[in-house]
Amino acid sequence: MKEQIYTIPINEAYETDCECPLCLLEKKCEEEAVDYALGAAMMEPDFRMESNQKGYCGKHFEMLNEKPNKLSLALVMETLVAENITELEKFTKKIDDLKKDKCGLFRKSGSKEIVDELCQMLKKREDSCIICDKINYTMGRYTEVFIDMWRTEPEFRSRVEQSKGFCLVHMRKILEAAEKNLSDKQLKEFAVFLYEKQTAQIKRISEEVHRFTLKFDYRNKDMEWGNAQDAPVRSIEKVAGTIRKSE
Ligand SMILES: [Zn+2]
Ligand SMILES: [Zn+2]
Repeated sequence: MKEQIYTIPINEAYETDCECPLCLLEKKCEEEAVDYALGAAMMEPDFRMESNQKGYCGKHFEMLNEKPNKLSLALVMETLVAENITELEKFTKKIDDLKKDKCGLFRKSGSKEIVDELCQMLKKREDSCIICDKINYTMGRYTEVFIDMWRTEPEFRSRVEQSKGFCLVHMRKILEAAEKNLSDKQLKEFAVFLYEKQTAQIKRISEEVHRFTLKFDYRNKDMEWGNAQDAPVRSIEKVAGTIRKSE
């Protein structure tokens, strides 16, 4: 079933001229999630518990840190650090045993097992992020709804056909969603369309980047920029999705 909370933003994203409408949606979702983490979510015990347990990835810690509300950040970090201490202290007894060398002189100390376990716990915390999880969930719904709209709304389909396609990351994600949600016949039609669209669009970007390099030749100083002026950043966006630009 198509839900308006997903169809409306998708339609809006297609009104913007961009390299990838899904990147636009993802960026919006990310900004909302970061604001929420330091805003309304502060008062939600369930969110706080999840925030303490999952923590944040480097990129999202960076985004939280850039927000002006330092008190909210400190309150989030206070309980998050406390959770880290609890996790670390689960190892206190094992480390004490190592210290006392309870295993005796001729047996292995077990230090390797303890270090492995400690690394596993740290890695698990490092890899988890409540904001990444939220984005992945919402973007998963967006890609499914996109496929449904493609399948059932001719008007939307023609909008997609006139667009600049997607970045390569979202090309993969949309193909994966298509594979799960379309019949074999529909999948064939969609895959051919998407492949041709993406190939043509990435060639366009390649020409624009080339034009950018030509402008650095003094013989071309009077040449029109055309669409080339921001071609380097758009070429990254086409390949890897949106990146954070310095203001
Ligand atoms: Zn994208
Ligand atoms: Zn993250």
